[in-house]
Amino acid sequence: MSPPDLSIVVPIYNEVESLNLLIDGIAQTLRPAGRAYEILCVDDGSQDGSTELLRQLAQERDDLRAIVLRRNYGQTAALAAGFHQARGQVIITLDGDLQNDPADIPRLVARLEEGYDLVSGWRKARQDAALTRLLPSRIANWLIGRVTGVKLHDYGCTLKAYRRELVADMNLYGELHRFLPALAFIEGARITELPVHHHARQFGQSKYGLGRTFRVILDLLTIAFMKTFLTRPMHGFGVAGLVCTLAGFLVGVYLVLLKLTGASIGQRPLLLLAVLLVILGVQLFCFGLLAELLIRTYHESQGRPIYRIREIVGGSTAQG
Ligand code: UDP
Ligand code: MG
Repeated sequence: MSPPDLSIVVPIYNEVESLNLLIDGIAQTLRPAGRAYEILCVDDGSQDGSTELLRQLAQERDDLRAIVLRRNYGQTAALAAGFHQARGQVIITLDGDLQNDPADIPRLVARLEEGYDLVSGWRKARQDAALTRLLPSRIANWLIGRVTGVKLHDYGCTLKAYRRELVADMNLYGELHRFLPALAFIEGARITELPVHHHARQFGQSKYGLGRTFRVILDLLTIAFMKTFLTRPMHGFGVAGLVCTLAGFLVGVYLVLLKLTGASIGQRPLLLLAVLLVILGVQLFCFGLLAELLIRTYHESQGRPIYRIREIVGGSTAQG
């Protein structure tokens, strides 16, 4: 069988009532489009019978593969597992609870093929609780936009389409799936968004509450850090270190001059400040150097160059 064009990756955690509708919905949208597709349902340690149902469906249908994880790892890990198994040139992710609408997939793919690397869904009319979900999400979206420099309305929407090469370049950790556009942006991807439908949850309940906001904020700090320091940590730490050391040195010189004029400096808080600044500065400096070493190991151990090539035109690399 030739590899499929589209891979639809769906994380599933206790969504047994939705599964049949979901898979039928995807198939009904994609079959008439006439493109080869595969559905990858990643069972993230469900305990409600989703696993058994998926196993059975995957044996009955030839457009479905079920990837069953050993335990519940979380949505990001489930998506990562799907990415690793996906064979399509275009990878689409969506939620397994019917909140995203499979009917939006062809529009996303068409947009992607206009020349983007990532098309993100925007739940313009989002159907979730206002206070516990929409408000934190508003704030988070604003913060993420500010920190990462990627301007999207809705980072949390799972419904997205990716070019295969983009996903292959990225590693996911923590709750990082919502930061995929930001990570992709760091990798130099062309990103856009498209309004998509959103439905209220029909079955089961949301797996998340307010607690997620905090984890998202911590992940945001990681991203901000990576964005700045991933290639040149010394530029950040080194400058801070130099400024501290220099300030400490100047204060020290001032105190020495005072001492020479015969004043007593032993009781002065300023002396403490000078010592503190110098020690802090030297430490920041050393930290920057260590970070440089780490970053080299990071890039080299993974065979990750510090640049990404979009394409190479002409020359001996062309295959006839
Ligand atoms: N999910 C998962 N593992 C988890 C939590 C959630 O695979 O540990 C899946 C879940 O089955 C659903 C998607 O991630 O398909 C989004 O979850 P949910 O609908 O609870 O989030 P919300 O839409 O409320 O943000
Ligand atoms: Mg949901």
